[in-house]
Amino acid sequence: MTIRLLPPDVANAIAAGEVVERPASVVKELIENALDAGARRISVDVHGAGRTLIRVADDGAGMSAGELPLAFLRHATSKLAAREDLDAIGTLGFRGEALASIAAVSDVECRSGAARLRVRGGQVVEEGPAAPAPGTVVEVRDLFASTPARLKFMKSDAVEGAACLQVASSYALLFPAVRFTVAIGERRSFSTPGDGDAAAAAAAVLGASVGRELIGVAADGEVAVSGLVSQPRVHRSSREAILLAVNHRPVSSRALTFALEECYRGRLERGRHPIAVLDVAVPLEDVDVNVHPAKREVKFKSEGAVFSALQRAVRAALQETRPYEIRLDSRDPEPWPRAPAGHDAPALLLDAVTAVEVASSAPLRPLGQAGDGYLVAESPEGVLLIDQHAAHERVLYNRFLARLRGAQGLSQPLLVPAVVDLEPAQVAVMREHDASLRSAGFVVEEFGSRQARVEAAPAETPAGRAGEALSATLAALAEGRGDGAVEAAAASLACHSAVRFGDPLDLSEQRRLLQELEAAPESVTCPHGRPTRLLLAWPDLKRHFRRNY
Ligand code: ADP
Ligand code: MG
Repeated sequence: MTIRLLPPDVANAIAAGEVVERPASVVKELIENALDAGARRISVDVHGAGRTLIRVADDGAGMSAGELPLAFLRHATSKLAAREDLDAIGTLGFRGEALASIAAVSDVECRSGAARLRVRGGQVVEEGPAAPAPGTVVEVRDLFASTPARLKFMKSDAVEGAACLQVASSYALLFPAVRFTVAIGERRSFSTPGDGDAAAAAAAVLGASVGRELIGVAADGEVAVSGLVSQPRVHRSSREAILLAVNHRPVSSRALTFALEECYRGRLERGRHPIAVLDVAVPLEDVDVNVHPAKREVKFKSEGAVFSALQRAVRAALQETRPYEIRLDSRDPEPWPRAPAGHDAPALLLDAVTAVEVASSAPLRPLGQAGDGYLVAESPEGVLLIDQHAAHERVLYNRFLARLRGAQGLSQPLLVPAVVDLEPAQVAVMREHDASLRSAGFVVEEFGSRQARVEAAPAETPAGRAGEALSATLAALAEGRGDGAVEAAAASLACHSAVRFGDPLDLSEQRRLLQELEAAPESVTCPHGRPTRLLLAWPDLKRHFRRNY
């Protein structure tokens, strides 16, 4: 075995592997450089999924002719000077590695100010003046052409192209004051207005219909949180639409993703995920960004404080939850009657919804029961269809949760006590949660080692279902942990106590359920996240029937 010092080109190619994993990494580093240079406009073009050409042009501070070759040396940066600077990094870049790494595995041309430089495989191949222009243009060609091993690991063009789009989208969403013009291949492109409005950037990147469903998040404090999150009625099957950032740097953080998703518990069904663009502003010295080669992860001094600030902010924003709505198809071949000037139809619809949230204490008027278990009702917003079981579940869940946490509820003795068989784990949690089960309304006697006799149950639980309700509640307590277990128990108890789909309800019972539903917080979904009601808004109906605009 002979130990030898590697020649610089080999060492650089190895180091490049850490920074430049795939074309999207190049897009990311070049956009970060443009942002660090104070650009107000950035254009991104990607051809051949990044293998043929990646071009990022900006109108930022640029570099002088003397600086240009330095930028391509490893550990050459204008963003750090001393060891202490690492403790408070306010720029996206800081390692001085990106351009050197990119140039080690591609053919790069950079024009900045009045200078031009071309570096191929880490070697400067051309250098000279250029027509003076503001800002910087970096063009990366033939990425990984000289490192076939790396090329082999590339995924399909569609996947690599999508990753590039994802990166560009992230920065466009997080920097709404910068005008992004992005074209990935021939088909995928967007441009943001760059006017500083986060909602406008979101509409440009994610589409107008998604943009309309996002709620603003804004909370000040030692840890400030800002951004947008989706109405619970809009959701995705993966976490891909969750974008979290710390001091404007996109990060992947299981803890923060969990913090966000917890806010949607009971508002989204299992397996569904929100859309979010959230930036957490943390004092620079309270976060270490120097823990991951691609700067994707960060370490907080106090993760708990960030976690709870994020949750407080998102929970406050979600107070504005709107109901699921029937959207009538507007792709009608006939021209629509025009709305008053300055108002197109969707805006009118939203105005109506917003206006009604002011008047939300107006009662729902029951009109009857349809299809066995849907209540039909009228409200100032429009016509509503309500799933009677889901609605009652929501009402009872809120009540039972408070009681399992100690609020005293009404209990009703059973004429014939119910005997339930229990698993050992259920017996254990029954003892552990004795006090909360009592405040919920259960009076239970253990007998034998595996059985219990239910002598009284919550007043809301039908007598015939007291046994199964207890058993389901205990099972939920035994399966879950901490707060989650108590919430799951409240959901089980609510499910076993609520009116069933198919139970006939007379008008006065319908009215009572609707009143309770209106009064219940988070009443848009049942505790499992399924919708409780569907709105057909008056303006939509009006448009559909072409009534006097
Ligand atoms: P880092 O961003 O970590 O400093 P890079 O290798 O990405 O390292 O860039 C090296 C240096 O080149 C930067 O510190 C910056 O001074 C300069 N630079 C790179 N891109 C640009 C740009 N688009 N505009 C102005 N200066 C740039
Ligand atoms: Mg950089």
